Amino acid sequence: MQYLPIFAQLNNRPVLLVGAGHVALRKAGTLLKAGARLTVVATYFSDEFKEWQQQGKATLIESRFAPEHIDGHVLVIAATDDDAVNQSVFEAADARNILVNTVDDQPNCSFIFPAIIDRSPILIAISSAGTAPVLARRLREKLEAILPAHLGPLAQLVGSFRDKVKQKISGFAGRRQFWERVFDSSIVREVQANRLDLAQQQLEALLEREIPTQGEVYLVGSGPGDPELLTLKALQLMQQADVVVYDYLVSEPIMQLVRRDAELICVGKKAGAHSVAQEETNNLLVSLALSGKKVCRLKGGDPFIFGRGAEEIEVLLPHKIPFQVVPGITAAAGCAAYAGIALTHRDYAQAVQFVTGHCRKDGVEPDWQSLSRPNQTLVIYMGLMKVEHIQQQLLAAGRAADIPVAVIENGTRADQRVFTGQLSQLATLVAEHQVQSPALLIIGEVVALQQKLNWFGDRPDQQAQQPLTNRI
Ligand code: SAH
Repeated sequence: MQYLPIFAQLNNRPVLLVGAGHVALRKAGTLLKAGARLTVVATYFSDEFKEWQQQGKATLIESRFAPEHIDGHVLVIAATDDDAVNQSVFEAADARNILVNTVDDQPNCSFIFPAIIDRSPILIAISSAGTAPVLARRLREKLEAILPAHLGPLAQLVGSFRDKVKQKISGFAGRRQFWERVFDSSIVREVQANRLDLAQQQLEALLEREIPTQGEVYLVGSGPGDPELLTLKALQLMQQADVVVYDYLVSEPIMQLVRRDAELICVGKKAGAHSVAQEETNNLLVSLALSGKKVCRLKGGDPFIFGRGAEEIEVLLPHKIPFQVVPGITAAAGCAAYAGIALTHRDYAQAVQFVTGHCRKDGVEPDWQSLSRPNQTLVIYMGLMKVEHIQQQLLAAGRAADIPVAVIENGTRADQRVFTGQLSQLATLVAEHQVQSPALLIIGEVVALQQKLNWFGDRPDQQAQQPLTNRI
């Protein structure tokens, strides 16, 4: 992060502006809007500036700039059309450790002005740290278009109830849940329709009825890793939760989308190292929910496909803890799509089987005969450790040695790797490329089309087509 975004309270604070041309005029307007006590140093002033002086909004000093002008100001803006003057303003301010902006001269700035979307009291500031102003402007236009105009009045209404809500509901989590309910309610529609009185009445009524909130568990599938594959519902609940309980399969870019002040609890590390026992996770969910928390249990892929999701929900039932389940794109679907493998195809595979490579507790082997049938696709989760055994058993059960196979590591993520070969080479593929978890094995005729259908990553000329989290 090259710049720290902060919102400065400038009301009645002294700010120095050096220069009084067009650019300076614009800056002065913004600063006065923020209530700054403005002093302007310039050799000539236009009528607008003189009017501000008459209205008591600005003090004008008709003079060449001198470093002493800076003393006693909290911010300085150099906006003359003379580079040498701007440079000396910057140096004088910087030497005094006062934040200074030199208009259109980023190296001579200790702070920069962001692009602003103003729905006061809601303000959104955007910066590209000077690298791509056009991109920042486009983003602002997009946001301007999608942000409703009633955001301002809504924030004002909410602000006027803050103290009352604080008195009525003790505890931060309870208050946050109350506000979540407000924003999900018809109050928002009333504000939107400019029926502010009605909105206020409804808010009062909701606060009257306020009862202690009950905890809840959201069992959410986060998909195989690309954050753009999250469902809208997953994102919504990730943003609502007080606590997020996650494991190693949830990718880093997805964790970035979790509500910033949510408590994060990791219950699983890579490849068996120190993962929290399932029973402990179950108990954790129960105790968090019983303490009134909204708990998002965030899992890789789909929670009900090799995700032990049902076990985590079952323990909630005796306690009557409400829950929701949000499906996610399972690794088979996500990895296959991003590797260019159609899991079924009229000419190649009429069925697809998802199986786990982990042995059953009782040591009983899967039905290798059924897994080895031709014209079907076999997708093996958690198959890395047992890859040699899997290869042997499929061959022994009659699957042809030259059936195409694929190994997909980190599927759908920026570092996805895909290796293809024949069934007789499956274990060698894994060993040769030192494939790491998470990885999926796909065995079947459909893999033959992979070369043709492959579209994501891999080839350098396609890097640009990798999905961007915020496509614009
Ligand atoms: N519930 C998850 C699966 C959990 S089991 C789902 O629906 O996808 C964990 C296994 O899933 C891993 O061992 C691996 O085989 C597979 N897996 C999950 N994410 C993956 C990814 N991004 N790339 C490759 N395999 C993945």
